[in-house]
Amino acid sequence: MAATPRQAKMLIVGEQVDALDGQTFEVLNPATGEVIANVPLGGKADVDRAVEAAQKAFEGPYSKWSASKRGRTLQKFADLVKKANEELAQIDRENVGKPIVASRGESFAVSLVLEYYAGAANKHFGNTIPTSIPGFDFTLREPIGVVGLIVPWNFPQNMAAWKLGPALATGNTCVLKPASWTPLSAIRLAEIALEAGFPPGVVNVVTGPGGTAGAALAAHPGVGKVAFTGETRTGQEIMRLAANNVKRISLELGGKSPNVVFADADLEKFAAAMPNSVFDNAGQNCTARSRILVERSVHERVVQLIAEQTNKLVVGDPADDKTQVGSLVHQRQRERVMEFVASAQEEGATLVTGGVPPSDAALAGGAFLMPTILNGANANMRFIREEIFGPVVGVIPFDSEEEAVRLANATPYGLAGSVWTRDIGRAIRVAKGIRSGTISVNSNETIHTEAPFGGYKMSGLGRELGMGALDEYTQTKNVFVDLG
Ligand code: NAD
Repeated sequence: MAATPRQAKMLIVGEQVDALDGQTFEVLNPATGEVIANVPLGGKADVDRAVEAAQKAFEGPYSKWSASKRGRTLQKFADLVKKANEELAQIDRENVGKPIVASRGESFAVSLVLEYYAGAANKHFGNTIPTSIPGFDFTLREPIGVVGLIVPWNFPQNMAAWKLGPALATGNTCVLKPASWTPLSAIRLAEIALEAGFPPGVVNVVTGPGGTAGAALAAHPGVGKVAFTGETRTGQEIMRLAANNVKRISLELGGKSPNVVFADADLEKFAAAMPNSVFDNAGQNCTARSRILVERSVHERVVQLIAEQTNKLVVGDPADDKTQVGSLVHQRQRERVMEFVASAQEEGATLVTGGVPPSDAALAGGAFLMPTILNGANANMRFIREEIFGPVVGVIPFDSEEEAVRLANATPYGLAGSVWTRDIGRAIRVAKGIRSGTISVNSNETIHTEAPFGGYKMSGLGRELGMGALDEYTQTKNVFVDLG
């Protein structure tokens, strides 16, 4: 029998609150279809009170905190997240349908990101500048004020932590708006920030639909910056809304990243890495290598190798430690992904493996889909042009390095990519030729807490992670002092 759904609350000024009008919405476990929680349906009025709370906190005693004190509190936040690893992992296992082992990994990564920004807080500062007229000139890096953090459903904890870390390290106050399908771990993270010692109002959470609560946050005149991760179309809308009061914005948007495989590459190494590069998180990953561009002479061999590796993946109950591919986030998402698989076949691609839900009757209530490889694709097919956000990859052969780079760039996106070759000159030429924010050579590793991450072209604006993210949450003030 299904457990009774729990009543979740938003967090405003450190208090657990309902929506002002008392409305709620249901949140599901996508692996079973069960309702697991009722969550406040926050709207514009709730955003207004959260922004007001954040403004008050920004102007209060918190503004006098030293960078070192913010760093120490962030370290406590990181420690508490580490302690709560299992609890946080189980929340997203249940709410996102993620395999539990991956969910533990995501939550651990959250603690590492917070720890990084704990250490960074007192290592980000301005310059002294020799001016042409006599005087003393220096710059200050000052917080922006209230920042709105709008995050998606695929990595709910990580996307929140990538923003909370640098925002808090630099002295801003936050209103976090998680995605409607997956609001639960963000609420818990904000509670932990409070337990760590951030004053009430420094981290607030409003749950509710993107079109109302999210849009109200993006348009709010009291918000100085919006940091957003999500679809490119939503990012464009946020840019328009942010124009309202010339907000700072950073946008981490969609992707259609390639794995570019040359005939001289270590093909076994590539094949072993490939499943994780596209089927991790059931393919709901902005950096998923959803296109494989492969040199024609090894095309069929590569298809055979990746099919062998893909067929070894364990698709199953997210609660099972052995599961590598869990449920998609929602039945609606699976329907969307299956439409892409059908359109690919209508356009002439051939199914190598997958394309259907698993046959295991125990998984029938969930939004599962077998990892899917489609061969014989070309750059004009819809499933190659558009972001799918599911466990689907298309394979396209190429004949020359120039063609490989041209195909890699034949997309409005530019988030990530990999090049596989033993020729170092070619590796660097291709890495430089692909117009995307991050490239890996003989690897599908993309995200490093210490290194900048973000998109070229329609994949986004600004960078997260690394020390550079601190710039995105501060503004520069130049001070000139006449020494006369
Ligand atoms: P989404 O754009 O539908 O939603 C993201 C967030 O924006 C949610 O909180 C949503 O409620 C909110 N939102 C929706 N409409 C809004 C509006 N009009 N105004 C303000 N907020 C609004 O994205 P999603 O479906 O949750 O996530 C999947 C997308 O996220 C994919 O496109 C993926 O590539 C992208 N993504 C990008 C990165 C990256 O770092 N580049 C990382 C993860 C996910």
